[in-house]
Amino acid sequence: MRRPVIAGNWKLFKTQAETREFLTVLAPAVANVDHCDIVVAPPFTALAAAADAARGTRIAVMAQDVFWESEGAFTGEVSAGMLADAGCAGSLVGHSERRQYFGETDETVSKKIGALLGAGLRAIVCVGETLDERESGSAQAVVEKQLTGGLAQLTAPGLSHIIVAYEPVWAIGTGRTATPEIAQEMHRTIRDVVGERFDAESADALRILYGGSVKPDNVADLMAQPDIDGGLVGGASLKPDSFEAIIRYQ
Ligand code: PEP
Repeated sequence: MRRPVIAGNWKLFKTQAETREFLTVLAPAVANVDHCDIVVAPPFTALAAAADAARGTRIAVMAQDVFWESEGAFTGEVSAGMLADAGCAGSLVGHSERRQYFGETDETVSKKIGALLGAGLRAIVCVGETLDERESGSAQAVVEKQLTGGLAQLTAPGLSHIIVAYEPVWAIGTGRTATPEIAQEMHRTIRDVVGERFDAESADALRILYGGSVKPDNVADLMAQPDIDGGLVGGASLKPDSFEAIIRYQ
């Protein structure tokens, strides 16, 4: 039985004060939630404030990105050890916005996963095709390539520290959600690819989140699919009430 995860990706939103205010409202509201793991991913500057505000609650804090080296002359970068020091449980890796605007590749995704696991942290590894790729019929091949490249250096024990998020680029921030059937089909593909690369037991235990315009009114239908184990939520995670409604999808 896979434990569901509802994770909020705050992108380039929220100061430290706004982060504390959000968690002061959300933490008591979800204190009795027992059916899923809850994650928020604030920007770097608010991570320590978030970890402080979330201490002793059901909410885990993750970063949105990480660098693969542990220290050195890499201006502007933040290491996995620094994330751990700030109180993070892990980081997103390979979000499509990082791939689109900041040169993220499957190779850098692979290195970042290695750095996170090496620091005792977890990774939420994002994959997903663009609209052109879906319309040209290559969605499955694109996601398969991102997965095999991103997980290239991973061993089966390492896989238990990984969550995969399927986020079709055409559904992120567009209000256009993949139908539960389209999402389920890709989640099944992801599980099959991981099963071939590792083993059936590890693939069965892998948690696969759907991301792309998840809202309180569509989350239940998505979560009803057999291979959807949670949501990675952007816009609708920015307000405590809508994020709480998604967390309470049941
Ligand atoms: C995201 O940024 O990961 C995301 C899924 O965004 P949204 O929910 O706003 O589509």
